[in-house]
Amino acid sequence: MSTAVKPALTIPVARPYFGTEEEQAVVSALKSGWVSQGPKVAAFEQSFAEYVGSQYAVALSSCTTALHLAMLISGIGEGDEVLCPSLSFIATANCIRYAGARPVFIDIDPVTYNIDPNRVEEAITPRTKAVLVVHQIGLPAAMKELAAIAERHGLILLEDAACAIGSEYLGEKIGRPHSRMACFSFHPRKILSTGEGGMITTNDEAVVARLRRLRQHAMTTSDLARHSATRVMVESYDEVGYNYRMTDLQAAIGLEQLRRLDSMLARRRHLAARYTARLKDVGWLLPPHEPAGLRHNYQSYMTRLAPNAPISRDQLMQCLLDHGISTRRGIMATHKEMPYDSPRWEHLLPETERATRETIILPLFHQLTEEEQDYILDMISEAGRVHT
Ligand SMILES: *Cc1c(COP(=O)(O)O)cnc(C)c1O
Repeated sequence: MSTAVKPALTIPVARPYFGTEEEQAVVSALKSGWVSQGPKVAAFEQSFAEYVGSQYAVALSSCTTALHLAMLISGIGEGDEVLCPSLSFIATANCIRYAGARPVFIDIDPVTYNIDPNRVEEAITPRTKAVLVVHQIGLPAAMKELAAIAERHGLILLEDAACAIGSEYLGEKIGRPHSRMACFSFHPRKILSTGEGGMITTNDEAVVARLRRLRQHAMTTSDLARHSATRVMVESYDEVGYNYRMTDLQAAIGLEQLRRLDSMLARRRHLAARYTARLKDVGWLLPPHEPAGLRHNYQSYMTRLAPNAPISRDQLMQCLLDHGISTRRGIMATHKEMPYDSPRWEHLLPETERATRETIILPLFHQLTEEEQDYILDMISEAGRVHT
């Protein structure tokens, strides 16, 4: 056991990383007088598209609203079925419901925690319209295999990339179109945060035009275009739209976060590698797996209790909490929540149910020190010894 000292404060499971640059960016956006969607949003979209390697990016108020518009623009509606994992944050399934369609849950590959391509085709019916892929907690899903299935059956492929900023699939960043649209989140639990916020990346110009209208009440001209016009412009509203705009205050933060993204990713990968190396010695708490060709961004560091673990998942969580360490259960199983609970899923999602029971998320954030991390690892080892 190393000599790590118990920190005075509780170690949270996640924490956003902001500096004086973000503070100054907000103040300067405030002083500009333009606080809703305006020039900062446009600049953030441009930089984001450049970062991931897509032609376009459209900013929205959250990933949930991004996913909702992705459904609508794909023409998904009443009576349609959309294939997606149950092992995901509930917003994945909710956005399908918003559109009036039904989520059909596919079991996961227990090694990657992502949708198992071998289980997709058996779930396709004449009503199936799309596959909503999730890159769970930042590990890319098997896009090539899923794209081939979608193509074979004429299905639309969409990505819930909420957690996947900076993740890479076969050398290309997630967001560089591997599907029609990829939707990102900037919630504080994600790596790049603007408080709340979302982004859709795509190479489809028609999709961009429709997204830009729908996010602001389906207005035919933007506030910015009217403000900059030298002739009077009168807008029209040709369909029912939404207010799903990002503010310039958020985008100003986002631009600074994007500048520090590579250093945030490097720090996470460094800390994740340290966890993985030392968990090998623990033996009964299994590190996440990063398959060849895929790069995890370690938005979360999710471990799994081995069958020979001397302690239950909930006992371990309690033990760590008693020592000032916050953890979270692994990813939720959406089909276990009331709006989605149905006898239909019985026996269909065994790997999803096993994963949600056996996984635990350890603290990982930019400011976590190696000393704190050693303390966490020591307390894990000790929890195992006490319960043996
Ligand atoms: C966080 C998350 C969302 C929701 O993102 P918001 O920006 O909070 O709306 C959706 N899907 C997944 C997989 C997530 O992790």
